[in-house]
Amino acid sequence: MGIPLHNEKIITPKKHAQIIKDNQIKNGKWNLTADVVVIGSGAGGAVAAAELAKNGWKVVLIEEGGYFTPAQFNSDEFLSQSRLYRDAGFIIAEEQTISILQGRSIGGSTTVNWQTSLYPPEYVTTEWENRFGWKGYSREDMDPYINEVHTRLGVHDVPDNLVNANNNVLRVGGEKLGLKPLVLKNNNNGCIGLGRCGLGCPINAKQSAFLTWIPDAIEHGATVVSNMRAVKIKDGSVKTVIAEFTVDPYQKSPAEIIESMEIKAPVVIVSAGAIEGPALLQRSGIGNDWVGRNLKVHPTSTIFGKFNSDIKMFQGPPQSIVIKDGHNQNGTGYGYWLEAAPYRPTLASSLLPFYGKQQFGVMKDYNKYNAGIVLVRDGADGEANAKVEWSFGRRKVYFELTPTDGLNMLRGLKSLAEITVAAGATELVFPFTRFTEPVKVDVTTNFDWVLKESIRSGDLSVGSAHPHGSIQSAKEETLGAVDLNLEIYGHKNIFVMDASVYPTGLSVNPQITTMSVVLRASRNLAKQKEERTKI
Ligand SMILES: Cc1cc2nc3c(=O)[nH]c(=O)nc-3n(C[C@H](O)[C@H](O)[C@H](O)COP(=O)(O)OP(=O)(O)OC[C@H]3O[C@@H](n4cnc5c(N)ncnc54)[C@H](O)[C@@H]3O)c2cc1C
Ligand code: SF4
Repeated sequence: MGIPLHNEKIITPKKHAQIIKDNQIKNGKWNLTADVVVIGSGAGGAVAAAELAKNGWKVVLIEEGGYFTPAQFNSDEFLSQSRLYRDAGFIIAEEQTISILQGRSIGGSTTVNWQTSLYPPEYVTTEWENRFGWKGYSREDMDPYINEVHTRLGVHDVPDNLVNANNNVLRVGGEKLGLKPLVLKNNNNGCIGLGRCGLGCPINAKQSAFLTWIPDAIEHGATVVSNMRAVKIKDGSVKTVIAEFTVDPYQKSPAEIIESMEIKAPVVIVSAGAIEGPALLQRSGIGNDWVGRNLKVHPTSTIFGKFNSDIKMFQGPPQSIVIKDGHNQNGTGYGYWLEAAPYRPTLASSLLPFYGKQQFGVMKDYNKYNAGIVLVRDGADGEANAKVEWSFGRRKVYFELTPTDGLNMLRGLKSLAEITVAAGATELVFPFTRFTEPVKVDVTTNFDWVLKESIRSGDLSVGSAHPHGSIQSAKEETLGAVDLNLEIYGHKNIFVMDASVYPTGLSVNPQITTMSVVLRASRNLAKQKEERTKI
């Protein structure tokens, strides 16, 4: 099949003039019809578009962000963040309780993600089945889909020579303390450890959706349009999706552009991610009150450790080692995992809990710092205290850590501090805002005090790169917004296929699960073409 360096068939703003001419478009509005409109081109949308196109559906996929390739990926953090990330880098919750990283370009978050490839453990999928009727999602049941995804993405264990110093801190420290650091799987063909995953892989090694499922969809006839934001879905026997042109940051728009699109189709798939998807449905008046509720974020907190030699946390594949020992605390299914984070300088400095001289002091020694993160499976207290709301013309995110999730975060931070010190760190930067400088440490330092720290917003810095579960799927309408086929209750032929559909905290980095779950759902839907597209 071959992997194109630049997919000429993706409709970017440069192609608008020709399309306006060929289709005799008046007033800048392009009217199209299709069997299905897919909104969003990330882990969910790209897979759904490819699967339906392969099965003969006429697919139109629209993506709000632009189309960028290695020729445009570069290490200018401000430029790249504004081009490739939603809200130019950070989605900030109301009251500033969390900052969330999410991609916004062709490929969605997969264009900027860190390659970790996992599927949730058995106790998560069992909880899905028992509480929400999600049957057949055990690892064993899902293996055919997961294997297909792994093959398409080139998923394999990170080879030992690519485990960087940042990840090695977890391995060395974890082993010294009798824990079980494990090697992670990554998705790439030919990664040479340039460490630029978060700004787009400059050599097309990382197998993002724009290199895999999107070309598959196009090869089977899908129309893929970048820079088009769905503003509204109108329900009916034929649905209408109204979209508006969005301009790329630092990019001059061509003189002639398609300003809006109106796409009519019997089936719509919302794959706009767990933040924008619920906002789109709410402003369209579609779905029950589970839309936007129970947003899970896989909350994350960071400890930076200073070492006597260079770590260079940005070099090499971002994530190659995981420590899972803290998961499933007391058999509850809830707890924490530990991973490394490849923070670039601006990201690192923005996560330091102090400013001025002290912040500058840490950044001066940036090369000597590692970054470890705690990831908490949210939902230990029941529903998450987080939601998305579309109100007064704005998308708003609300988030607070619940008590047990907060305790699991503190447990994880204590363990991470011990591991980092065991690996040789001499100073630690904790995510507690009461600190005004790094804390000096050695192997005799006791970290029991960490468990007593405040988890209140403003006292503890929390972030996320894994928003999910804000349009959850369940066996009945009282428990979720979409049914077990991922179709919105009360809105026939409108589906949600992305990371929004998980009924509980996923517990792992979401890309592989999202692709596998969507592959299964879209394959099912594909078989129903005749009945679904009959008007
Ligand atoms: C920095 C970073 C690192 C990560 N690392 C990992 C990792 O190592 N492993 C892992 O498993 N996961 C990782 N993730 C998360 C993973 O990539 C996402 O969970 C996954 O891609 C979610 O898939 P999705 O389809 O729900 O959303 P996305 O992949 O985010 O795609 C949604 C798309 O919809 C578009 N969209 C939104 N609104 C509209 C609209 N109104 N109209 C048109 N288009 C719209 C967006 O612009 C976006 O492109 C990471 C994420 C980030 C940001
Ligand atoms: S580490 Fe570098 S080479 Fe490897 S996938 Fe990421 S960006 Fe590409």
